[in-house]
Amino acid sequence: MLDCIIIGSGVAGISAALTLKANGKTVQIFGSNALSEKIAKAELIRNYPGLSNVTGKDFVSALQEQLATAEIAITEEKVSGVYALKDNFTVMTQPGNTYESKTVILACGVESVKPIAGEEDFVGRGVSYCATCDGFLYKDKTIAVVCTTKTLEHEIGYLANFAKKVYLIPLYKDVEIDRNNVVFVRKMPQKIEGGLRVNKICFATPPADDIPSELPIDGVFMLRESVSPAILVGGLQTENGHVIVNRNMETNLKGCFAAGDCTGRPYQYAKAVGEGNIAAHAASEYLK
Ligand code: FAD
Repeated sequence: MLDCIIIGSGVAGISAALTLKANGKTVQIFGSNALSEKIAKAELIRNYPGLSNVTGKDFVSALQEQLATAEIAITEEKVSGVYALKDNFTVMTQPGNTYESKTVILACGVESVKPIAGEEDFVGRGVSYCATCDGFLYKDKTIAVVCTTKTLEHEIGYLANFAKKVYLIPLYKDVEIDRNNVVFVRKMPQKIEGGLRVNKICFATPPADDIPSELPIDGVFMLRESVSPAILVGGLQTENGHVIVNRNMETNLKGCFAAGDCTGRPYQYAKAVGEGNIAAHAASEYLK
């Protein structure tokens, strides 16, 4: 069993991984080899100590080199659920893999897209974030898919293999889906409604002449780069979308720590790096 699983390959997660590795702990980071769009997209970074006027791209290269030197590999799988057991954690990932660790550090950043009204109320009752985990439940059913990024487009195709009908709400450009059972809806949904389970997705006004403002559905998939920590980890305490932590970056769940943007403002590299470092030391101490 791993000492620590880190969710997120931004600077908070990388900082935590470097410190844990230096402390002799076994660690696995989940995220992307490209690290984080929030680093790559920065035009010029002026406020990071020691790297004056570095571009985001150069910062990514420097971090990748440092990870390679420290022999820390990133597992390119999206974490879909974290389950706190008595003395350890089970972490589920998008391809359906399961991992176990004694501690978890949440370094998943913040999602700029707010949840749709009703979304969080119906998690596990028709709202899903993972096509490969839950797609089979919707064989011959009607579903809506809200997708915010082209990187998850393959999941739409996967869902269309099972569902009878897919209302696709793409929130990105250059959509390349061409399937007979996919109906394009080019409007932001207003809310998700239902009873025991989701039964409709609603729009402020009809999205098109032939598409009404309420669409009957059996389920809805929200395909986003990152999922809010409260949805990812059952029982985790959050406030205004941020994980509640103390000065040791401990959450309310024993053995679960958080660092970086996901714990709140200011959203800055230096703050994320510092918190990743504290979380790693606190996790090492906990492991004793
Ligand atoms: P992130 O960098 O957001 O990294 C989180 C990572 O976790 C992402 O790669 C994400 O894909 C991954 N992830 C999330 N959920 C999961 C999951 N379920 N499974 C697997 N992986 C997951 N700050 C400054 O101090 N100076 C600047 O000049 C500056 N410029 C910026 C410019 C831009 C354009 C932007 C967008 C931000 C800028 N920032 C700047 C802010 C800075 O980027 C953030 O504060 C910092 O990136 C936060 O680091 P993080 O590690 O907490 O999160």
